[in-house]
Amino acid sequence: MESQSSAAQDPQARRRHTQSVYIGGVGVGGNNPVRVQSMTNTPTHDVPATLGQIRTLAAAGCEIVRVAVPDETAAATLSDLCAAAPVPLVADIHFDSRLAVQAVEAGIAGLRINPGNIGSAREVDRVVDAASARGVPIRIGVNSGSVEKGLLERFGGPTPEAMVESALSHVTLLEKRGFSQIKISLKSSSVLDTVHAYQRMADRVSYPLHIGVTEAGTPLRGAVKSGVGLGILLWEGVGDTVRVSLTGDPADEMVAAWELLRSLGLRSRGPEIISCPTCGRTEIDLIGLAQAVERRLRPVETVCKVAVMGCVVNGPGEAREADIGIAGGRDCGIIFRKGKVIRKVHGDANLLPVFMEEVRRFLAEWGVELPEEL
Ligand code: SF4
Repeated sequence: MESQSSAAQDPQARRRHTQSVYIGGVGVGGNNPVRVQSMTNTPTHDVPATLGQIRTLAAAGCEIVRVAVPDETAAATLSDLCAAAPVPLVADIHFDSRLAVQAVEAGIAGLRINPGNIGSAREVDRVVDAASARGVPIRIGVNSGSVEKGLLERFGGPTPEAMVESALSHVTLLEKRGFSQIKISLKSSSVLDTVHAYQRMADRVSYPLHIGVTEAGTPLRGAVKSGVGLGILLWEGVGDTVRVSLTGDPADEMVAAWELLRSLGLRSRGPEIISCPTCGRTEIDLIGLAQAVERRLRPVETVCKVAVMGCVVNGPGEAREADIGIAGGRDCGIIFRKGKVIRKVHGDANLLPVFMEEVRRFLAEWGVELPEEL
């Protein structure tokens, strides 16, 4: 069978040409890489908690963070959050145009609104004018649950077509005001509806698309649903910024988002952990070891391969491909670097500390210092 050409296997080469917008200093669309974003789930008005989560997300590779602004109290904290956040913030606002204007005045880097629920035409204009004056992009965020009644009747429900028409009507409202710093999202909890909606939209406009499957679910199920939906779109070259929505710790969204981009060869960040599923040959606590290694290496940005294998059947093979690896034996482990045995460790309890010592030494040679507490 003829092998596929490398271009056919390269979603980067297929990326849709889009306009670019800037969320603070972070370019989205155009020639910029696919951006990774998430949303805090702390009460926004709780500045220490929200800032703490923003910093955790940023340390895990989040490039843009969205915060909900449900009321005046939340809006009043935005200037403090914007001043201290290490990455640009986007304010997510519904039903109250005054909050959107207030967010812009507080220095927010982007707005996410649904013009259909933000108020009258005059109120939409007021938000657009404020955003325009400060160069703040607006994401038009349509969810399947927010499609207007008329469109639901016309299309027989929140179909992909209805979502696209809803977003386009909102785009028109902004364009009429001479505003073009637009991003669009069309999220549904149905993976296939989400994919179809974005595919249709990609044919209609050149604005950058923020892609995501909404209400995807708890981490395991949600990561699979998002991986399928976003994977199809990114493979086709559609999507300028991603969010993997999970019911859980937003930091888990980073793991899923970066693994998704890495799998498609679009972007890489941090160590790739190669670990086996374990089987009847496993004689160490490999699951605990792999989870602990992954957790400790989360803050590391350096791209490398780390293998954590259950036995010496496949361990050495994987370790040969990895930069550093460990393969378990009977109450012991063998540590490899680039396929060569460098150390044998006895006692299950010693595997993690000794392996981390070797990982730390390996990373130090690459100029990366792991914090001592890891
Ligand atoms: S590496 Fe060894 S322990 Fe792990 S699944 Fe393969 S055979 Fe089993």
